[in-house]
Amino acid sequence: MGRPKKPTPNVEKAPHRLPGSFDLGQDQFMSWEGFWEKVVALSRTFGFSQVQTPMFEDSRLFGFWSKVGCQLLNFLQTKGPSIAAAPAGIFGLARLYLPLQEQEPIKVVKWYYDMLVACWDEKNELKQNREFGFQIFGPVAPVSDAQLLNLLLRLFTEVGLSNFSLEVNNVGCVECQPNYQDQLKIYFKDKKYDLCENCLIYLEAGNPLQIFACKNLACSTTTTDAPVIVDYLCETCRAQLISVLEGLDELAISYNLNPHVIGRPWNRRTVFELRCRIADQDFVLGTGGHSDELIQSLGGAACPALGFDSTQEVILKALELAQIKFAAKHRAEVFLVPLGELAAKKSLKLFTELWNHDIIASEFSGPSSIKMQLKLAESSKASIALIIGHKEAREGTVILRDVRSGMQELFVIDRIIDEVKKRLGR
Ligand SMILES: [Zn+2]
Ligand SMILES: [Zn+2]
Repeated sequence: MGRPKKPTPNVEKAPHRLPGSFDLGQDQFMSWEGFWEKVVALSRTFGFSQVQTPMFEDSRLFGFWSKVGCQLLNFLQTKGPSIAAAPAGIFGLARLYLPLQEQEPIKVVKWYYDMLVACWDEKNELKQNREFGFQIFGPVAPVSDAQLLNLLLRLFTEVGLSNFSLEVNNVGCVECQPNYQDQLKIYFKDKKYDLCENCLIYLEAGNPLQIFACKNLACSTTTTDAPVIVDYLCETCRAQLISVLEGLDELAISYNLNPHVIGRPWNRRTVFELRCRIADQDFVLGTGGHSDELIQSLGGAACPALGFDSTQEVILKALELAQIKFAAKHRAEVFLVPLGELAAKKSLKLFTELWNHDIIASEFSGPSSIKMQLKLAESSKASIALIIGHKEAREGTVILRDVRSGMQELFVIDRIIDEVKKRLGR
């Protein structure tokens, strides 16, 4: 008999997680689950239905993705169209809406969703995230913005966050925005030397509006005396902004008009950012606005679109900073303590029987002393521990221990389910 052979490892050391991505540990997942439960409940109350679209699509769908510096994650195929990972959720949703609009031109849909998105970010790192949001396609009522914000504020309040601020702006439409961009081009022309590299690219590309969103202090300072968009809005955009603000007044939702909020590259007209003050920091919870040219850009008929999106990363960060924790919902009621191999086999059957009677059982899987296992039973907050030693396993009995008092009693295994149920008050 030689030494047991060791498998040859595929790599010397397991590679690290890619930058721009993140893992979700069990505590974070619990937080996400707690948050998502509230999303589902409120969405139903507000008449939103859940939909799901794939992560990969024909890359032509993302034509509106024109964020300078962020590139699509493309996959070239030898045959067929080029495929790309969705950089944002709205494009797949728009594709899902198109055939519905064909059947019924004034079809209104109210959707909520969560999906994986990915792109190359400004630093040329692969950025992955789980985006979630609310999206309405179709002729929306003028109060829809206020109603959507009502939902969002309720959601984030119920989660436990507070100190919100709502920043609102209107970025114009295909009619009035080009004129405003021209004015900005003239304004920023002699401020080129104060702009960062990215903002220079925006200026060269004829999109100086993006400079307002730059977090760079020097860039932000250059915008101080810039022309304001409100002076350049067409009648339709002006009327839409006023009706949004009136809706917010109606619901007593306070807001700030903020020219630095410009939304996503596909946003038109009213855009907003929902912020929250946590630990002396202004935290952006998500962005919303209208994307009225999107459906048309994909070959559909002109169609209003209103939505809000955020990411799992943002929500988990906000919950962590605000020290909000969600408790585990399915707490074990019974903790199984099998001692030895035979007892472990018996406990397998017992676990299934408890499960069949809707009793949530938990057990420690691994060799450990009875003392250690009872400690685990205590920390699991189960009120009952069922101990099966070698003797009990052979005799078909089980020891029931009241975890709090430490009182123990021996039962025939056939009677244990009834006894557990009685003690749990079932
Ligand atoms: Zn306009
Ligand atoms: Zn800049």
